[in-house]
Amino acid sequence: MPPPIPRTSIERALAFLNTWDTFSADPERIADSAVLGRFMRWVHDRSSPVSVDDRDLARFRRARTELRGAFDAPDEASGVARLNSILASRPVRVRLEPDDGQWTMSHQPVPSDPIEALLTEAALALLSAIGDGGWERFGTCAGSPCTCVYVDRTRNRSRRFCSDLCNDRVSQEAHRRRRSRIEKA
Ligand SMILES: [Zn+2]
Repeated sequence: MPPPIPRTSIERALAFLNTWDTFSADPERIADSAVLGRFMRWVHDRSSPVSVDDRDLARFRRARTELRGAFDAPDEASGVARLNSILASRPVRVRLEPDDGQWTMSHQPVPSDPIEALLTEAALALLSAIGDGGWERFGTCAGSPCTCVYVDRTRNRSRRFCSDLCNDRVSQEAHRRRRSRIEKA
C-alpha cells in the first residue's frame, strides 16, 4: 500500500527529507529521475506526471541536503540561520488572508518549478514550526540505523521515533532481548 499523500507543508517537508533513509539497504530512495518524477507527482498530489531530468535529480538532492542542515544544526540559532539562508535567494509571496474570522499573514512559494517550490515551502513550514514550538521539536529517529527526521507535536515532547514502524520495530527488538536474557538466565 503506498503511504498516504502528505496533506500539510510540514508533512511534505518531512516526506522530502526522509527520501534519504538510512534504514533502507540503499539510503537513497530517489534512485533516478524516473523515481523523482513519481515522487514529485505523489508529494504534490498531481494527476499528471511531473517531467524531470538528471539535472533536476542533482538539484533535488542538493536541496534535501540543505534542508537537512536545519535538523543537524548544533543549536536553534544555527538551524534558523540555515533555513533563512535557503529563503534568502528564493521569492516568497506574502499575503494577508482571512482565517477563521481573523487575518493571518500567509507565506507561500512563488509558483516556480516543482523542486524549488518544494524546497521553499519546506523551509517556510520548518521556520514556522520553530516559531510555534521551538527548534527542540525537531528530532532524528532514535531507532538506529534509521536517521529519518520528525517534528514532535506531542504536548510533553516525548516523541523519539520517525514513525510507528520504527517505534514498533524498536520495542519488538527490546522485547526479544529481554526474553532471550530471561531464557538464558
Ligand atoms: Zn525511524
